[in-house]
Amino acid sequence: MNKKVGIIGTGVAGLSAAVRMAVRGHEVHAFEANAYPGGKLSEIEVGEYRFDAGPSLFTMPQYLEDLFALAGKKFSDYCPYDRLDPITHYFFQDGTQFNSDADPVLFAQDIERKFGIKEEVILDHLQKSREIFDLSAEAFLHNPIQLTSFDLLKIGTRLGALDIFNTMHETNKKRMKHPKMVQYFDRFATYNGSNPYEAPGTLNIIPHLEHHVGAFFPKGGMYSITKAIHRFAEELGVHFHFNTRIVEIVTEKNKVKGLKSSDGALWALDMVVSNMDVMYTYKRLMPSQKSPDKVLNQPRALSAMVFYLGIKKVFPQLGLHNIFFSDDYKKEFDVFFKARSIADDLTIYINISSKFKEDDAPKGCENWFVMVNTPPNTGQDWDVLVSRTRKNVIEKLSRVLGEDIESLIDAEDVLEPRIIEQKTSSYQGSLYGSSSNNKFAAFLRHANDSSTIQGLYFCGGSVHPGGGIPLSVLSAKIVDELIHKK
Ligand SMILES: Cc1cc2nc3c(=O)[nH]c(=O)nc-3n(C[C@H](O)[C@H](O)[C@H](O)COP(=O)(O)OP(=O)(O)OC[C@H]3O[C@@H](n4cnc5c(N)ncnc54)[C@H](O)[C@@H]3O)c2cc1C
Repeated sequence: MNKKVGIIGTGVAGLSAAVRMAVRGHEVHAFEANAYPGGKLSEIEVGEYRFDAGPSLFTMPQYLEDLFALAGKKFSDYCPYDRLDPITHYFFQDGTQFNSDADPVLFAQDIERKFGIKEEVILDHLQKSREIFDLSAEAFLHNPIQLTSFDLLKIGTRLGALDIFNTMHETNKKRMKHPKMVQYFDRFATYNGSNPYEAPGTLNIIPHLEHHVGAFFPKGGMYSITKAIHRFAEELGVHFHFNTRIVEIVTEKNKVKGLKSSDGALWALDMVVSNMDVMYTYKRLMPSQKSPDKVLNQPRALSAMVFYLGIKKVFPQLGLHNIFFSDDYKKEFDVFFKARSIADDLTIYINISSKFKEDDAPKGCENWFVMVNTPPNTGQDWDVLVSRTRKNVIEKLSRVLGEDIESLIDAEDVLEPRIIEQKTSSYQGSLYGSSSNNKFAAFLRHANDSSTIQGLYFCGGSVHPGGGIPLSVLSAKIVDELIHKK
């Protein structure tokens, strides 16, 4: 029977859930506190420059193709995208530079030439990465975390192959030997905001996604992903309510009855899917309900500081994705996770979408999205950290690129953990919900349904299966399956 479904939040997961509920024939109402859809996957303009505000790396487009195929459509018609080659330009402070080729064999051959690591070692590492994906996708990514004892037994026999007992760094060090390649593979931990020196080797699943499945660029920029799902949802009849903050999930006898918005309106609904961070869903929208504190209090993943810089020059040596590594990676993560601060020598990421989408910057200029990771917001003095980090970042980029970057800045804005938290209601401004530093993190994310309130479901980066665009999109699929299996 068709139901009235409310979605709280229009992040990429909320939009995907809205599409799925509409395809099932339900009447769907999506409520968004902001004036625009997308949450973290949004855009900003600074002077004459356009920037994707948050995510810049697009992987696993097939999950979005699956979403559009539900109504016989192609995601690539709504949001055309290209496979990247090369993927990223890497710079070390001693002048070493390499680009990661999309073709794994060419990549491995280049690494052998540059760092003397045998081609087979790299290809074998990537193959092991694929095996972890094949072993874990069904158990951890594509399905709810409702493991039977048979599932647990099956997983138990695979813990070795999943490399759960080593840290990512230990495994990379054992296999790679060359410190620069260890650092290269360790960096994939940051793709879900984790620490390679603590997270299990299982996270070595991530290079498979980039090196085998590929990295992509939506021709209209990352925000065109949001625009495509939003348009598709509208075509399917989803009712969007922007500038509408939900303040309460209304329940009666442990059953969802509706939602209350900040203007006092009461929306009667049969089911609710919350795309709001799960911590705040409990603490702000249903404070009288008992909350699963063990799960909610798992340590949060890294946050970020982004300097959006309009630059009055074109840098031919840079590509769409660029990394400038720090000299002491271990120290960088110790400062994030132990001192809860930001080291002076940092790994810097620059995304320049105007390399592919020329109208993102005026002629002869580039839009630099300069990002460094930070700890989640636990009350640090961000004003001090922003001004110190900006100085360190500009100095380092000027040194490595041999240009006075400060004098090239034409327009500027900044994003930091407090602003991420305020704009998207993400607890502590974390980019990816809880971190994967714990061996058992995959089992310690909140499930996609409520065990106590009938008709309440959860999607998005703060719940199972985790953060990032692909997993957030998958969380909506799991919600759909949970609802329609019942
Ligand atoms: C700087 C940065 C860089 C990133 N880089 C990448 C990357 O390169 N690749 C990648 O895959 N991922 C990246 N991520 C992570 C990725 O953006 C997120 O994991 C993903 O977008 C999370 O989507 P979500 O559906 O959980 O919702 P969110 O984007 O968190 O959105 C939640 C929405 O819910 C709304 N909302 C919350 N509470 C309420 C309420 N009470 N009432 C109404 N509306 C409400 C918010 O306003 C928001 O619009 C990055 C994130 C950031 C910030």
